[in-house]
Amino acid sequence: MELKKLIRKNIAELQPYSCARDEFKGEASVYLDANENPWNTPYNRYPDPLQLEVKEAISRLKNVPVERIFLGNGSDEPIDLLYRAFCEPGIDNVVAMEPTYGMYKVCAGINDVEYRRVLLNQDFDIDAEKLLAACDSRTKIIWLCSPNNPTGNSLNRDEVLKTIKAFEGLVVLDEAYIDFASQASFSQLIDSYPNLILLQTFSKAWGSAAIRLGMAFARPEIIQILNKIKYPYNINILTQRQALAMLKNKSTVDNWVNELLIQRESLKTALLTVPYVQHIYPTDANFLLIKVEDANAVYRFLVSRSIIVRNRNTVALCEGCIRITVGTANENNELINTMKLFSQK
Ligand SMILES: *Cc1c(COP(=O)(O)O)cnc(C)c1O
Repeated sequence: MELKKLIRKNIAELQPYSCARDEFKGEASVYLDANENPWNTPYNRYPDPLQLEVKEAISRLKNVPVERIFLGNGSDEPIDLLYRAFCEPGIDNVVAMEPTYGMYKVCAGINDVEYRRVLLNQDFDIDAEKLLAACDSRTKIIWLCSPNNPTGNSLNRDEVLKTIKAFEGLVVLDEAYIDFASQASFSQLIDSYPNLILLQTFSKAWGSAAIRLGMAFARPEIIQILNKIKYPYNINILTQRQALAMLKNKSTVDNWVNELLIQRESLKTALLTVPYVQHIYPTDANFLLIKVEDANAVYRFLVSRSIIVRNRNTVALCEGCIRITVGTANENNELINTMKLFSQK
């Protein structure tokens, strides 16, 4: 794969902004280079633009070298940056499986890039041939998500690999829910597949959606392109500090994940006792997609009882479906009890 053929010309030629913290790295005793206020430590100083300390901790944990890690303001930032780096507005296109996470399409729209959708099969899985058939010489990115949102399942590994191997552009595999999955991450395969970009996030298993921290893992040349076009100080110091604190506390995260997996199984069992639940789809994530008789009515009833789930009724292939995030045992019980009240009406 030739990165030079994929990158937009203006991005390839771009001279990035060189901030004070780019030009002098390291320790000094007097900093008079960035027009900062000398008081109000530590918030007076600009944060590390490349977040080295956070990346080193992530690197150790994930066994991914620092130069293969990009950090963004949520996963949403690398999603948008990939469009801006590789997709020429009005000319290039991307291919995505559907149903899936909505941001791939929204960012395509914002960047005026054609978005081609390929429906998943009845098992919510991909068919590499179908994805590849939707591509042409102007297709820059294929978007995959595994475990997928809102369906919950992991994609067939062989089909994902087939797609990566056969496609001459970039394949983005969004692993936002990988910590809940029985399948292994593709993170150890970045070396073998130079067109593979992985997305992970602090928003789900790490319990840190509020700090807005997303990760992209890819070969160093791709990471350098993202670094070149991001806002210089895209990750603020509060987020960097909190991320470091969480990374030192991995056992807490492991305990949360274990508990949520137990709760997921209990919730599944309990949902089977709700008469109007017609189907519970297999899940590898921290949520369940269920099919009911009347999704709109169930959704409205739950809202009226102050319980909010996600109505996916209007999503292609998800007609009649509701997406339920796994909560605490108490929250899940409240949901089930309330759902049973509805069936009695
Ligand atoms: C929740 C979610 C994300 C997380 O996005 P952030 O911007 O990191 O909060 C990414 N991808 C998918 C598929 C998700 O469901």
